[in-house]
Amino acid sequence: MHNLAGFSEDALRELELWPWLSLAAPTAPTAPADAAAPANTVGRAALSPAASTAIDAPAAAPRPAGMPGGYRKKEPVPVAVPVPVIDPVRVAQIGGLNWDELHASAAACQACGLCKQRKQAVFGVGAREAPWLFVGEGPGADEDQQGEPFVGQAGKLLDAMLAAAGLQRGREVYIANVVKCRPPGNRTPNADEAAACAPYLDRQIDLIQPRLIVALGKTAVTRLTASEASMASMRGQVHQYRNIPVIATYHPAYLLRNLPDKVKAWEDLMLAKATFGTP
Ligand code: URA
Repeated sequence: MHNLAGFSEDALRELELWPWLSLAAPTAPTAPADAAAPANTVGRAALSPAASTAIDAPAAAPRPAGMPGGYRKKEPVPVAVPVPVIDPVRVAQIGGLNWDELHASAAACQACGLCKQRKQAVFGVGAREAPWLFVGEGPGADEDQQGEPFVGQAGKLLDAMLAAAGLQRGREVYIANVVKCRPPGNRTPNADEAAACAPYLDRQIDLIQPRLIVALGKTAVTRLTASEASMASMRGQVHQYRNIPVIATYHPAYLLRNLPDKVKAWEDLMLAKATFGTP
């Protein structure tokens, strides 16, 4: 059964978001760029209220009964990301590869130390012309083992969120990561590792030409917006990456540890749907 906003009630129940979630999809933002917003940010979301909790912050204060929200909106704080040195020749070479060449190149890549402990590079999964692109951080143990992004617990939650929004991996969704090789101990990839892997994600985006990108977690948001501003300030806005709208939301692994923030992730998905528009 689907509600008016086009989301599945059954899937929402599975996410424990039904029936207390407001289902009205926000309208896509039309406001001019906020003077205080990071350079890649083109507007402020109609979605309200936004989060006031950074990704690693403790759970927010209790919400008013029956409704997500009641939060004070934080202004975006533009924080530039230091740009690691990258080899322009390598960037140009990877930027000219076709899908199969790109896959093979990533599989053999030794541009950073992450290659040393990987079982395999985890390239990405989905339709090569998918209109939706979801970008995570990097493979974990399950992904390293199986060679596919988001196949562990976080992946199950991501699949449930996709299903609730009427989307499906392998159908209209492509899933990729900022780094293709598992960081040891599942640590956050550092800026040099993200930069070394950037040509691969960039080329994937060029080839896919998605209509919308959802950045899952701070690493993906930082990579795609070139801002290290907090998740709280990056959510609820439409950013841009090479003229493609980018919506920032929490990483599913974070949501597994912070269940109440699933509501905020749901708000972000609704903003993504509204921004995507009707196919
Ligand atoms: N977390 C990620 O960011 N990516 C994966 O593929 C799996 C877990």
